[in-house]
Amino acid sequence: MTGPSLSTSSGAPVWAPPLPPAADRGLCTDCGVSRMADARACGRACQFIKPDYAALETRVHGRARDASRPDELHFGPFRRMVRASLSPPRPDAQWTGITTRIAEKLLEAGAVDAVLTMAPDPDDRWKPVPVLVTKPAGMAQVRGMRMGYAPLLALLEPARAAGHKRIAVIGIPCQVYALRALEESLGFDKIYVIGTPCSDNTTTANFHSFLALLSNAPDTITYLEFRADYYVEIRFVNGKKREIPFLQLPISKLPADFFPLTCRTCVDYTNVLADITVGYMGGQGEQWLLVRNARGEELLDLLGDEVRLSAPGSKGKRAGPVKGFLANVQRAAGGLPLRRMPNWVRPIVGWLMPRIGPRGLEFARARVEMKAVETVVHLEREEPAMVKNMVPPHVWALVKPYGLAPRDRA
Ligand SMILES: Cc1cc2nc3c(=O)[nH]c(=O)nc-3n(C[C@H](O)[C@H](O)[C@H](O)COP(=O)(O)OP(=O)(O)OC[C@H]3O[C@@H](n4cnc5c(N)ncnc54)[C@H](O)[C@@H]3O)c2cc1C
Ligand code: SF4
Ligand code: SF4
Repeated sequence: MTGPSLSTSSGAPVWAPPLPPAADRGLCTDCGVSRMADARACGRACQFIKPDYAALETRVHGRARDASRPDELHFGPFRRMVRASLSPPRPDAQWTGITTRIAEKLLEAGAVDAVLTMAPDPDDRWKPVPVLVTKPAGMAQVRGMRMGYAPLLALLEPARAAGHKRIAVIGIPCQVYALRALEESLGFDKIYVIGTPCSDNTTTANFHSFLALLSNAPDTITYLEFRADYYVEIRFVNGKKREIPFLQLPISKLPADFFPLTCRTCVDYTNVLADITVGYMGGQGEQWLLVRNARGEELLDLLGDEVRLSAPGSKGKRAGPVKGFLANVQRAAGGLPLRRMPNWVRPIVGWLMPRIGPRGLEFARARVEMKAVETVVHLEREEPAMVKNMVPPHVWALVKPYGLAPRDRA
């Protein structure tokens, strides 16, 4: 065992209820809806069918994203954006632990009865297991990032059956979309939604094969993060740390299907339907918060002076790197190998990127555009019939400067 065991009895402070099996679906990240009593709800809840962001943004935030406001086209509706660090940082957190601390504060204040989130599987620290946390101390057990997806929303029915009326949900964008689509029919008095950005997710099994390319002792890796300074940081059980420049990663050794089509084509990087998004992309080494509505303000206020806030910065120009990325995605989607840089150039470019590449908010904009480009190219190639319904207008607006536009399929 690599972590604490999880209880399957409903009174436990961290409860992992046994969940029904998933129904067979096409594009699906098993968010949990297909395991609910009415599995047909997938039809109205799923991000991978015909998402309507404008309608849900209007319901949740009072208005849809407004492309005339700075950065809303890229990041969705928000009231304010800040760089943030929790002081002191919490042990085992992915960054400083803002996400889990907000939820812990909600439990401490009695504002919610339960938090729905992911704990590490006791036998595999990288595998997410959906849990209901009902005691503040239980939040320490769920800190940190797991790779993979698991049926978070299948916890909604056990939560309701246990009598919980006010809940908080910590989720990634494809889970939060489905939650918002069903929210009004779920029967809770209040749902706080704390979202994290998400991209380049894959199955936990695939992720283990990636770790095996990074180290001779992959089982000893306890932490991995793609940082905004173009390094991947990995930590080991013995406390050692390694930093690898992005360009030195063995990405070209990964099989073409390493990232499932869902995660290559999902359309919401920054979790636009959360009350507050807690990420790092625009944080230049700190965390990056998007407070999206009044409830998001309430959540950030809970941290009081435990959190240090400052204005996000922005440097560099994204157009060149995004164009280079598009060219590589088009080659890869066409079955050609990724264009590799000669070995002697890599250290030079690796040194230059953190100094002259896009940084701060410009880095976050670049990543959002890259994801949009990837969505369009891969969906056009692998599921062209889905493009019309699945790609929302904001994604087309993001890729337009790079020469991508809806095809006339009449
Ligand atoms: C697969 C994945 C990809 C991500 N990619 C980006 C990115 O590209 N850019 C960016 O800015 N941020 C990304 N994030 C979010 C980022 O890694 C941090 O989780 C976030 O910034 C919060 O940090 P924290 O210290 O506040 O989190 P903590 O306080 O440590 O809390 C982390 C929370 O996330 C939950 N969680 C962990 N793994 C999963 C999972 N697989 N599915 C659902 N919930 C999970 C935990 O249960 C916990 O509640 C990603 C997260 C995931 C899971
Ligand atoms: S991702 Fe969720 S809503 Fe979509 S098909 Fe899968 S279970 Fe259903
Ligand atoms: S990359 Fe997209 S589809 Fe995949 S788990 Fe993350 S939010 Fe869901």
